[in-house]
Amino acid sequence: MRLKLYWQILIALVLAVIAGSLSGTEGSFLGVHWYPVYKFLGTLFMNALKMIIVPLIVSSIITGVGGMGNTQNLGRMGGKTLLFYSVSSLLAILTGLLFVNLFNPGIVDGEPAKAILGLDAAAFAEVADKVQGHSAADLSGIFLSMVPPNIIAAAANGQMLGLIFFSLLFGYFMTRIDRESGDLLNRFWSGIADVMMGITMLVMKFAPLGVFGLVAKTVAGIDADQMDDLVVSLGTFTLTVLLALAVHVFVTMPVLLVTVARVNPVKHFRAMLPAMLTAFSTASSSATLPLTMECVRDNAGVSNRTASFVLPLGATVNMDGTALYECVAAMFIAQAYGLELSFVTQFTVVLVALLTSIGVAGIPAASLVAITIILTTIGLPAEAIGLILAVDRILDMFRTSVNVFSDSCGAVLIAKTEGEKNILQ
Ligand code: ASP
Repeated sequence: MRLKLYWQILIALVLAVIAGSLSGTEGSFLGVHWYPVYKFLGTLFMNALKMIIVPLIVSSIITGVGGMGNTQNLGRMGGKTLLFYSVSSLLAILTGLLFVNLFNPGIVDGEPAKAILGLDAAAFAEVADKVQGHSAADLSGIFLSMVPPNIIAAAANGQMLGLIFFSLLFGYFMTRIDRESGDLLNRFWSGIADVMMGITMLVMKFAPLGVFGLVAKTVAGIDADQMDDLVVSLGTFTLTVLLALAVHVFVTMPVLLVTVARVNPVKHFRAMLPAMLTAFSTASSSATLPLTMECVRDNAGVSNRTASFVLPLGATVNMDGTALYECVAAMFIAQAYGLELSFVTQFTVVLVALLTSIGVAGIPAASLVAITIILTTIGLPAEAIGLILAVDRILDMFRTSVNVFSDSCGAVLIAKTEGEKNILQ
């Protein structure tokens, strides 16, 4: 009997933590260094996932929209999707806001913690490098990136918002041209979507190996100083983020699942586990998208039609974990800088977190650029982001899993309200 995929991935995760912490970056056995092996496995898996994303997003959105039949269906589905995305992200942000006001992680012994945390200019240069070119640099940039001047360049540079917008238009106008050409295009794109799912299934078989490589590499790369930072100065911040994320996944989403969709949250959680664990290891919701679609369709029982429309959009646009993190991080930094947190400031943080979470790309560390936007909006220097760098990676893993989980809940909820019968109850 073969172990279920999520067990295989979980075992790989545990082994990775053990192997990574034993070997560190220097460990070797019989002259073979472990670290490059982890790196190789992880990169191979990430590459395989990334290889699928562009054709998968384009073909599934085009077939999703093209398959709606008429503008009315499309409008209804689009309306529900946007409603779910905004409500769930807003709930996530408010949860974060509540916890950050309860724990005040930026205040230590009644004093703003800036001096204790220390700020490292070199670290900021590193972030600037990381975020550059991955995301829009300001709010109007987010809207501009929706309409890319060159669709091929957008695909090559991973500008998913632009790609999504183009695919939505393409799918829509496919239903408006003459029937024969429309049918032909429909068959062509759904053929591509099916092939991409086939390739996804193949890549999924290697998920345990890929997860092992990615996690072992991350664990091996953690140095003792970073651990000290994590435990001592950034402990309360880390805890605040994790608790708020946990409330969103284990309270808010299950309540929505039970009340709106009458779906058993435990079963849904189990159905989504392979995708969530992959999101955790890759820290990228875009790279996880193929697995998310697979789990939502095959394990959770959502139709192809709904999954193809809701999930590719969700992977880029709906990021509950990211929105929550942006809010907590910006508030934490503001507290640490001794900024007065009036109602207006907090409201601005919530609003900008909501807007920027839409524009953030589904790639590792993408939130950082959004947080700098929030910081400058409320009058703090962008380099203040340096305060949270030490713990960003580990929190990225958690918030990405939350992003993916929320997308999957959206798919189930929408499928249910569309009257679908095969959903796992
Ligand atoms: N890594 C996140 C994702 O891919 C984005 C972020 O919050 O940095 O969903």
